[in-house]
Amino acid sequence: MMAKAELPPRASTLAPGAGASFTVHGAGVSGGIAIGHAHLISSARLEVAHYEVAPEAVKDEIRRFKSAIAEVRGELAGLQASVSASAPAELGAFLNVHLMILDDAQISQLPLELIRARRCNAEWALMQQAEALVQQFEQFEDAYLRERKNDILQVVERVLKAMLGTGQAPAVPGHEKNVIVVAHDLSPADMILFKRHQFAGFVTDLGGVTSHSAIVARSLNIPAIVGMHHARNMVRENELLIVDGREGVLIVNPDSRVLAEYQQRQRLIERARKKLKRLRSTPAETSDGIPIELHANIELPQDVQAALEAGATGIGLFRSEFLFLNRDDLPSEDEQFDAYRQVVEAMDGLPVTIRTLDLGADKSINGADRGGPNPALGLRAIRFCLAEPQMFLAQLRAILRASAHGKVRILVPMLAHAYEIEQALAAIAQAKEQLDDMGADYDRGIEVGGMIEVPAAALSLRVFAKKLDFLSIGTNDLIQYTLAIDRTDDTVAHLYDTMHPAVLYLISQTIQAGHKVGRDVVVCGEMAGDLDATALLLGFGLRQFSMHPAQLLAVKQQVLRTSAAEARIIARRILRTDDPEKRRQLLARLNAQD
Ligand code: PEP
Ligand code: MG
Repeated sequence: MMAKAELPPRASTLAPGAGASFTVHGAGVSGGIAIGHAHLISSARLEVAHYEVAPEAVKDEIRRFKSAIAEVRGELAGLQASVSASAPAELGAFLNVHLMILDDAQISQLPLELIRARRCNAEWALMQQAEALVQQFEQFEDAYLRERKNDILQVVERVLKAMLGTGQAPAVPGHEKNVIVVAHDLSPADMILFKRHQFAGFVTDLGGVTSHSAIVARSLNIPAIVGMHHARNMVRENELLIVDGREGVLIVNPDSRVLAEYQQRQRLIERARKKLKRLRSTPAETSDGIPIELHANIELPQDVQAALEAGATGIGLFRSEFLFLNRDDLPSEDEQFDAYRQVVEAMDGLPVTIRTLDLGADKSINGADRGGPNPALGLRAIRFCLAEPQMFLAQLRAILRASAHGKVRILVPMLAHAYEIEQALAAIAQAKEQLDDMGADYDRGIEVGGMIEVPAAALSLRVFAKKLDFLSIGTNDLIQYTLAIDRTDDTVAHLYDTMHPAVLYLISQTIQAGHKVGRDVVVCGEMAGDLDATALLLGFGLRQFSMHPAQLLAVKQQVLRTSAAEARIIARRILRTDDPEKRRQLLARLNAQD
């Protein structure tokens, strides 16, 4: 949940401020330049105001506290009643635990004493008791009990939310366009909430360039920088900021000369963006006439609009798990079906590849943190789905039903073992049987593909290619797992190297081996939208890319400039060389083709 954010009055013009000017470097996530005023999002998840209420206001404060507790009790009971039979058993258990915590005297009674005796505001009173309770839980030797402190915090967040009445997204006036959000960290769920607001840019202290938060930031098509380390502490509310999302540079309190220079750069970028739009209906083909499919990645049904505006010829990756974030229940089969059908119908006959749930790691259902000690290596994606067969079947039925309305393909994430493919295929067959029993319509020839994002899958590709209709390379995870770098951890972000020889070897081998047995191979990780990698991937033989819509036209321009035959020759040399400097030079030559 988003913590409360304070909003002092802000200056209405973008004039240089009086504070000292300084520059901070991070990892640029999304190109372009934003100029605007800082809006700090609280770093502590549960940071609340501390104040003493007037003696005559104590009664109202008590009423406020009691009504928030009652509201949350009602919410939790309502959720408990609505948990469907197909929901994972843990969800019902979580809700029980949360109700018990809410009814614990330390949460629902003792804060009242603090309000009465010390005239603490209700939020502060609750936090004091909650912190004491959390400390008790931290002392437990049993790991399971220690973990329950997160449940306490989640319940407390709910009560705070009810008291603050803030809703979930940060309170920023809807008309304010020049706001740059400065946060310590933002979860993918937080980022999704930001889709409802119009911000000029984002900077965060934590995060790597292919973390899901960064990916969603990119999908907002606004400049963003992650991995700034201490920006949240150095920047003050309302200070004038320049975010250079390409170079990963944040300039705080720029002087008038620097401001003018960036305003000029901003105009140039805008002009280039407008020019690119002319390529929207130009067919994507290399300069030597090879047609290339450029598909779009989306997180939510409404993203389809951007995909169509960018001239995408399909949806190559619908990250369906985003339908499951920011809510306390699971979307029903019908709700999922509606979302999938919406996308399929909007694409009007163009292919839509729906990825089955990739929950776990940095994306988890509210309250159901099942990440384990090492979430990226834990019960994630297909592993999670196979452990929750009812939830998986409900999703598969929803996808299959949507396939009656257009061209749908199913994509299964994070496969590592041949038997996982078999189990996933068996679940699809079972979902089909269930639909047959109900007389529901679906595409009987629906294609099923697998994501190649674990090195084990890339290295045993033959098995995967044999059992699946198509392959989609998830470079974000493939790089994470090949180089053993947590993609969300900014402290190792500098080691995340798209051009590492091992990574290039796995990608080129997957493309080649897949094509050899007649399978379509797509790259749908962030590398597909990386302009420095376009010609190289074409040189490896890639003919299908799926990327964020914001990148699509720039990639098309790159495709139009590239000769696939020439790229192939240079790409081979890049694969053969051991010398990093030579590799860099060859890549520069490849990208200089015009
Ligand atoms: C990937 O890993 O490259 C991918 C496309 O999936 P995600 O980024 O959602 O993990
Ligand atoms: Mg992935």
